Formats: sequence, structure tokens, C-alpha cells
Amino acid sequence: MNDRLDLNELHWMLAITQSIDVGVVVLDRHYCVQVWNNFMENRSGVLPSEAAGQSFFKLFPEINEQWFSKKIENVVTLGTPAFTIWEQRPYLMRFKNYQPITGQEDFMYQNTTLFPLRSTNSEISHICLVIYDVTDVATNRHQLQAANAQLQKLSSTDHLTGLYNRGHWEEAVKREYARHSRYASNASLVMIDIDHFKRVNDTYGHQAGDAVIRRVAEVIRRHARDTDVVGRYGGEEFAVLLPDTDKEGARVFSERLRQAIEAEVVEHEGQRIRCTISLGVADLSQPLEGYESLIERADQALYDSKENGRNQVSVRG
Ligand code: GH3
Ligand code: MG
Ligand code: MG
Repeated sequence: MNDRLDLNELHWMLAITQSIDVGVVVLDRHYCVQVWNNFMENRSGVLPSEAAGQSFFKLFPEINEQWFSKKIENVVTLGTPAFTIWEQRPYLMRFKNYQPITGQEDFMYQNTTLFPLRSTNSEISHICLVIYDVTDVATNRHQLQAANAQLQKLSSTDHLTGLYNRGHWEEAVKREYARHSRYASNASLVMIDIDHFKRVNDTYGHQAGDAVIRRVAEVIRRHARDTDVVGRYGGEEFAVLLPDTDKEGARVFSERLRQAIEAEVVEHEGQRIRCTISLGVADLSQPLEGYESLIERADQALYDSKENGRNQVSVRG
């Protein structure tokens, strides 16, 4: 009676192993396949009869033999399970991804559990691998990361020019100021304002004004280095932080920029629009209260430029 029950249970266990939606593989100590369930057959296209007795590494050449056998040896020696997770290793075996909803991923992401199987004499002669398809988890995570990156970009950039918006730009200045306090490195700040911009709007219209703002932003970006932080500070005002640059270097940068804008012509609906900019420079060589004082000083220098007739660079301190 007991024997019959055991046999029934064994039969059920086999049926369950066959039909569950995870991969089940049993390997012997020579990495030869002993058990191969339906999941494995469907995803790999290898029949159980073909897989039986075959080397696991021959079936899946993409598996790093040295890494995998070390993992298996640990399971055998310690008698405890081991795991692989998709964040560290996207898959053990490269299976195509067939999930209709998560179709954008090329392959199936997998988590794998490897655990020892003890014989009746409690010797570990086989290892069982259970392979979970976690493609939907990985896809969700990737979509979330992409959405977050997009949000981050949207919240830090100005729509009209693509430059950093004021908030993000000020954060960068704060960080640079903190770095300066720690390492006594220098940095310069250039504040830029388009001259008589109201006239541009009044003469050519708001759309034309927007085109001018966009062009000025483009020219500033073209002149700045990758490490410089360029922001749209206000309507027709821009600010550039130049790390590791003193005010003399910033003056040269500013003068070049002033000339470049003076030479630009913005064509808008048949109109040729020119403009000039005024610039103010300050750096961190003077003792300052905080990053706000740096902005203030550059702003004062900009005011000097306006007072002295516009289309020029002024340096404070
Ligand atoms: P100044 O030489 O003294 O700087 O004179 P200004 O006319 O440039 O200075 P003011 O600050 O008086 O005028 C700036 C104008 O910029 C006023 C505002 O309507 C316009 N403005 C601000 N933001 C935008 C924008 O996004 N697009 C357009 N087209 N105009 C803007
Ligand atoms: Mg202004
Ligand atoms: Mg202006």
C-alpha cells in the first residue's frame, strides 16, 4: 500500500515538474543532463531525449564554464543553495524572449537557483537548477529607469533652449562652491544679458524674440566646454559657470562670446535680426560669504557693462 502511494506521489511530482512554468534541470557531477522539463524543451528547442546525458556546456556554449563549475563546486562542498540574479548576470542560458507584453527585450532575463540533491546515502551526486523567467520584472525596471531619466531631464532643462534651468544651474553652482571651499580651486561665473531685448520683441514679435534667445543659447553652448555649466537664468539672461578658471580666463571666454553674438544674424520670416549681449564676470579668488555672493558679484559686473554702454564685458574684483 505504502509503495503504491509512493509511486503515485512520484508520478505526480514528475507531472508537476514537467508542467510548472520554470525551467528544471538536474545535472550529475560531470555536468551531464539527467532531468529536462517541458519549460526547457520549449525554450531551448532541445528535446528531452536529445538533452539526456548531454554536457550542459555543449548545449549552452554561452555559459562561462569556469564560473559555472566554481559555483556548482561550492554548492556541492557546502551543501547549500546558490543563486544567480538578473541584475548581475542577465541570463544563464540565452533564450529568446517570447513574452508578448515584454516584447521589446531580445532575450529572457533569468534568476536561477542551484541546489544540491542528496542521494539516499546523503551523498551529493546531483545538482538541480531552477530557472525563473524574470523578463517582465527587468522590463518594468528598465522602463522605470528610462522614465526617471526622462523626468530628470525635463525637470532640469529649459524647454526653449535645452540649457539647464535656473534651479538646476544654481544647484551646480552650489556644488562647485562647496568643492572650491574644500580644495581651494578657482571657478568663474559669467552672467549674460541680451541688450535692448524688449526692442527685438517690439519690432519683430515674440516668436522672433524666442528665435533670438535660442540662437544666443546655441552660441553660448558652442563656446563652452563640456565641464562648463550653462543655464538659462531668466527670460533673456544666461549664466555660465567655468570650473577651474580664473577671472582672466573667464574674461577671454566672455569677450570671444560677445564678438560671436555680435557677428550672428538670426533669420526669422524673412527678417534679419542682430543683437548684442552684455556680460559680467566674477571669480572665487576673493573671500565670499557663499555661492549667492558669487552670483551677486557677477550680476554687479553685468550692471557695470549695461551702465557703460552695453555690448561689453566687465569684471568684478
Ligand atoms: P537691457 O539692455 O537693459 O537688458 O534691456 P532689455 O530690453 O533687454 O531688458 P528688459 O529686462 O527690460 O527686457 C527683457 C524682455 O525680455 C522683457 C520680456 O518681455 C522679454 N522676455 C523674457 N522672456 C522671454 C521669452 O522667453 N521670449 C521672448 N520672446 N521674450 C522674453
Ligand atoms: Mg534682463
Ligand atoms: Mg536685456
